[in-house]
Amino acid sequence: MQNGKCVVCGKAGEKHHIIFKCEGGLDFPLNYIYLCAEHHRGKKSPHRNKKINLMYKLEFQNKLNNILTKDYYFMDDIMRILSLNSSQVRSICKKFKLYKEGYKRDDIIRRLMGGKFYYDFMLDEFYDDSWNITDKFINDNDLYDNCEF
Ligand SMILES: [Zn+2]
Ligand SMILES: [Zn+2]
Repeated sequence: MQNGKCVVCGKAGEKHHIIFKCEGGLDFPLNYIYLCAEHHRGKKSPHRNKKINLMYKLEFQNKLNNILTKDYYFMDDIMRILSLNSSQVRSICKKFKLYKEGYKRDDIIRRLMGGKFYYDFMLDEFYDDSWNITDKFINDNDLYDNCEF
């Protein structure tokens, strides 16, 4: 897909899902950016470099944290605020516990992050990703080999 400029260098870019589809990432505007071939799949790209991958993910998570400022949301709000379509919202909300105030912000964010939260300390070179495996979506083989770009 050649529409949109690379967020790093401004060349023609292709769609990159920050939370990969195989990690449970949804196809909605907040979860993708455009990257040129080099910044998408080259040495210093999220598909080849763990740290860069993580930095895009942390940035996305921060964005979600800033957008979702209330503790609870109903489906309509989630759809509107995050520009998700109704079938996406229905399918993610099915798995959430519904409180009388709505769905919990943390449940929503965790789901959009592919089932886990990301932390700055993961950028540490000694950090071992297996310490934070919390969800069936996360699988290292998927991450770097079989993953759909
Ligand atoms: Zn680029
Ligand atoms: Zn990609």
